[in-house]
Amino acid sequence: MKIVIASSNPHKLAEIRAVFDEASDPAPAVQLTGLLDIGCEAEEPVEDQPTFEGNAALKARYYASATGCLVLADDSGLVVDALGGAPGVHSARYAGVTGPRDVVDTANNQLLLQKLADTPPRQRTARFVCVMALCDPPVSGAAHDANGPAPVITQGQFEGRIIGPNESPRGNHGFGYDPLFYLPDLGKTSAELSPDHKNRISHRGQAARCMRDVIAKQLHGIDTDE
Ligand code: IMP
Repeated sequence: MKIVIASSNPHKLAEIRAVFDEASDPAPAVQLTGLLDIGCEAEEPVEDQPTFEGNAALKARYYASATGCLVLADDSGLVVDALGGAPGVHSARYAGVTGPRDVVDTANNQLLLQKLADTPPRQRTARFVCVMALCDPPVSGAAHDANGPAPVITQGQFEGRIIGPNESPRGNHGFGYDPLFYLPDLGKTSAELSPDHKNRISHRGQAARCMRDVIAKQLHGIDTDE
């Protein structure tokens, strides 16, 4: 079974692939491929939904229709309590900067720290959220709602807090807000975790593992939890 992952972010692709690769035998016969690998040149859809679930479903449906393939999309972001849930679904474009990924990430991170400048460490609680949507391509003549086949949805959350005003961003792994996302129990930011460690506990790791298990059950009627 071939599944197209609807993302051009190499970090996300690697994190999702790693979860599917870790499945113990008998692993689901799933071949994951990226949009670029199948030569998909469709323009990115506008992610205009107010929820992670809405945007994940929108992306999965859009690319399932554009590629004619089974598509796995994820929408994720950082939810900061002291900012009323911001940047939330706007995490990727928080600072309004476009350009190379590292430039965008730096601008987003600077803005986040600015917005929290007057917030004490204890009130900097935050979580990463990831929602995944798996969608079949539309079948002509099949009965489904106006937006296409309904996707299967899974999700995960990763609790932490944003580094304090006297702390500096730390770590070279991951991407996005990872250098600012502090895990009190581990005494590290998520950018200081090895890719393996992050994937075991992260929002995306959790959502991908649930999705992998849903797919395995559909394919073989087996449970990969053991
Ligand atoms: P998406 O591509 O619309 O899902 O955007 C997600 C955005 O949320 C990313 O561009 C990052 O800014 C942020 N984000 C999501 N997951 C992570 C993570 O695991 N680490 C750091 N930042 C993340």
